[in-house]
Amino acid sequence: MKFLWSPWRMTYILDNQHSADCVFCTALEQLDGPGNLIVARGQRAFVILNRYPYTSGHLMVVPMEHRASLVELDPETRAEIMELSNRVTLILQAVYQPQGFNLGMNIGEVAGAGIADHVHMHIVPRWGGDTNFMSSLADTRVLPESLAETYQRVRHTWEQKYPANISSQAGDSPDGGQ
Ligand SMILES: [Zn+2]
Repeated sequence: MKFLWSPWRMTYILDNQHSADCVFCTALEQLDGPGNLIVARGQRAFVILNRYPYTSGHLMVVPMEHRASLVELDPETRAEIMELSNRVTLILQAVYQPQGFNLGMNIGEVAGAGIADHVHMHIVPRWGGDTNFMSSLADTRVLPESLAETYQRVRHTWEQKYPANISSQAGDSPDGGQ
């Protein structure tokens, strides 16, 4: 990992209660695309592809603020997480036609949270018999499409369905300033 001397960054981190060591907070600072995997940004939360997906189309909804649990978020943020999660299911339905979904949060390391410091909602599309659909070999998951391909399909569909909620640049103001 490379570090650049960027004094503005520390101000940003302190101002926004972000963490430099957090993959979600780091992704928020980057340009949205197949690199940072952010599909869409809302006012208080954003949608990001899981880099280590359980199935193709495994997405997450994450609050902008670096908080470890739901109780530390304000009600508006909790509501937006739910609203964005609902949109994710609609997008996945359009792209992959799954037969069901798993939605859930693992809060705390003991509960299985991979990134325990920054709470996030998982949305995993499911198909009947998807243990066959996704073959597992020596701990390597074999997915039917690449992450970049998933990103393009999901982002394209999101842009068509919710054009106002896409920001093309990292660091856009939440209010979408002109
Ligand atoms: Zn974070």
